[in-house]
Amino acid sequence: MKKDDCIFCKIANGEIPSNTVYEDERFRAILDLSPAVKGHTLIIPKDHFDDLLSASDEVLSDAVKLAKKIGNGVKEALGCDGINVVQNNGEAAGQTVHHLHIHIIPRYADGEKIVTWPQLTSDPEEQAKIAASIAGKL
Ligand code: 5GP
Ligand code: ZN
Repeated sequence: MKKDDCIFCKIANGEIPSNTVYEDERFRAILDLSPAVKGHTLIIPKDHFDDLLSASDEVLSDAVKLAKKIGNGVKEALGCDGINVVQNNGEAAGQTVHHLHIHIIPRYADGEKIVTWPQLTSDPEEQAKIAASIAGKL
């Protein structure tokens, strides 16, 4: 299913041109217009899902396999030392385009640290409560 006025629906389905590195029946992988690093690639399903949390299991399992394929291709083509696979869900998590996509970001040993987060100390009691509350929802 496509969604009207969704730019990634249009790009994935070829209505808007893109620098495509891979295409099959269900996905298109393109270069990011504003890359974090040269070669930053986006894997986009042709069907519309707002994000990973609402996507079908079929699309997600294919998307992860494709992340492996594209990640290896990007690594070989650019000679980078590592790859970040990043996927944002919801505005609070930094998602700006609300059509599921996976970022494949080339990384270099001497490159800028671009995917980071603070490492807080954790309280064992609180951790046990949080773990139990999440486990209770699964
Ligand atoms: P998000 O922040 O939603 O995880 O990532 C959206 C990504 O899509 C950003 O990295 C942004 O640069 C990229 N992007 C937004 N619009 C376009 C576009 O029209 N074409 C391409 N190739 N990338 C886009
Ligand atoms: Zn869409």
